[in-house]
Amino acid sequence: MKLRLHFVVDPMGWLCISMVFGIWLYNTFFIPKLVLLPHYNEGHIPWAIVVCYYIASGLCLAALFRASTADPGRLPVDPKIPHSEREHWELCNKCNLMRPKRSHHCSRCGHCVRKMDHHCPWINNCVGEDNHWLFLQLCFYTQVLSLFTLVLDFCQYYYFQPLTGLDQEKFTTHHELALMRVSTLMGLMMFGGMSSLFYTQMAGILSDTTTIEKMAQFSNEVYGSKKSWQWALTEVCGTRWKLLWLIPLRNRQPIQASHHFRTHV
Ligand SMILES: [Zn+2]
Ligand SMILES: [Zn+2]
Repeated sequence: MKLRLHFVVDPMGWLCISMVFGIWLYNTFFIPKLVLLPHYNEGHIPWAIVVCYYIASGLCLAALFRASTADPGRLPVDPKIPHSEREHWELCNKCNLMRPKRSHHCSRCGHCVRKMDHHCPWINNCVGEDNHWLFLQLCFYTQVLSLFTLVLDFCQYYYFQPLTGLDQEKFTTHHELALMRVSTLMGLMMFGGMSSLFYTQMAGILSDTTTIEKMAQFSNEVYGSKKSWQWALTEVCGTRWKLLWLIPLRNRQPIQASHHFRTHV
């Protein structure tokens, strides 16, 4: 498997993605140090919980890395346009290149992107046809990790702390309470933001409408075709294997709808 890296030069984007990475790093370091490992050593929680937390954290980082470095669907300078599809292509008046309809020119990236959804500064990349599935994975795994973190923070406050036998003075002098509060605040922000983003992204995918089309309000012109949720996600993820929808370290292969699959899933 060869993963080609795509890198957007944008200092504001670098700042935003550094903040996201910082939140991930903070929780991946402090939650095991303050909650998981001490309580595992004291026998309060099984090893499986610790492993699950690291797996969720690893998948979250992998999805962030892939979503931010994958090609979103940049068009070649001299595309080969099949004669039968010429009517579905148009000229971009910003970069003077031919592009399929539903492509959009991103001023941040400086090029056109196939079926562009939006430019996301938090991953410092466009979200387009080729990395939309990775962006969805990032929203999903961030929800899982932040919810996991919130549950552990809650248990630390109300359930684990009396078990450890630490005296309150020692607890506060080690700044653990402050660190846990920051973690809880980050968890609430990430879970709330990512849940609403995931919901709007899924609604857009199921109605076959990108965020840009929704904002421009021309989605009723051509799009909005009715599809089953399986087929809509199969097209976005590039595979019919549902387990692969959750794996960030793979390449996406665009697939064409067969009549049988479209009408029977
Ligand atoms: Zn363009
Ligand atoms: Zn962009």
